[in-house]
Amino acid sequence: MNAFDFHTATAVDAALQQLGPYAGADGQQAQDEGVGKFIAGGTNLLDLMKENLTRPARLVDINRLPLDDIRVLPDGGLWLGALARNAATAYHPEVQARFPLLSAAILAGASPQIRNMASNGGNLLQRTRCYYFYDTGTPCNKREPGSGCPAMRGLARQHAILGASEHCIATHPSDMCVALAALDATVHVLSPRGERAIAFADFHRLPGDTPHIDTTLAPDELITHLTLPAAPRLVAHSAYLKLRDRASYAFALVSVAAALDIEGGVVRDARIALGGVAHKPWRLPEAEALLVGQRAGTAAFERAAHVLLRDARAYGLGLGSNGFKLAMARRAVIRALETAQQGTVSNNGGSALDEGAL
Ligand code: SF4
Repeated sequence: MNAFDFHTATAVDAALQQLGPYAGADGQQAQDEGVGKFIAGGTNLLDLMKENLTRPARLVDINRLPLDDIRVLPDGGLWLGALARNAATAYHPEVQARFPLLSAAILAGASPQIRNMASNGGNLLQRTRCYYFYDTGTPCNKREPGSGCPAMRGLARQHAILGASEHCIATHPSDMCVALAALDATVHVLSPRGERAIAFADFHRLPGDTPHIDTTLAPDELITHLTLPAAPRLVAHSAYLKLRDRASYAFALVSVAAALDIEGGVVRDARIALGGVAHKPWRLPEAEALLVGQRAGTAAFERAAHVLLRDARAYGLGLGSNGFKLAMARRAVIRALETAQQGTVSNNGGSALDEGAL
């Protein structure tokens, strides 16, 4: 681990000032060499620093900032503070009542200990768990731009089947973000230039030819909170399905956040977001629109899954190939929609819909 200086901020303005001289240039630097970073729970950042994957010159501790509020907005939506812990968010009664999909997704991720530490803002900023990214003895375009992507023709079991580029096939590891994408969240950020609101669909990037840049957050911006628009008609029919190699404490091979507004057996609104399959939570409005006006049921769900995964393709070689994800994702989408149709399962103790295999 490299040497860095450490500042504790007790006010938002002070935090921005302490980071300011170290904010770095636009576009995330590949290894954050010499730049400043905000630190909250540190559940990913400290790992990255210990592995020498990120080498900040300054850390600004933001844990004492007053950004941990969770409250109901006048329109019935929710305000989620960036420093509210994942566990506090998942178990908050207003989150469980208004957005059970979000609660289920959070509780499907990580472990109780990590959820107690991890902040909502940090969850958005966690980096891929690609094996090669963490192995400094191998090339990796995300870690060292231009060095290559060994996953492309190597071990790609955890990797993308949608939205990848010739430069990177990494996936975003979050469960929480899959639900936030389905629920049309907005990310609110602050910098010395003022406030900015970023639609969730625009927050994470696809890799393109700059896979070292994960998000559209500017180097000097601080996430202050998230907002969720009211969605009372999606409460009764939602499900988070996560498929992974272990029953707990494992990242998704494929996950699905599904929510339906059903009236008289007919779909009025549909949300489907996929995790574990792309560099960002994956939604395709065209697939969701296919369901609207259709009778809820397996036949309609199969058509939506087909369109949603139309452009999916496999990467990796031999036993390292992720070709199995093509069928797995299709079946997971159908099953999540069928589960949502049956009715939302209340989650009162950490048992998210969670399957080891289909
Ligand atoms: Fe690196 Fe991305 Fe390739 Fe993984 S998939 S080795 S993160 S470039």
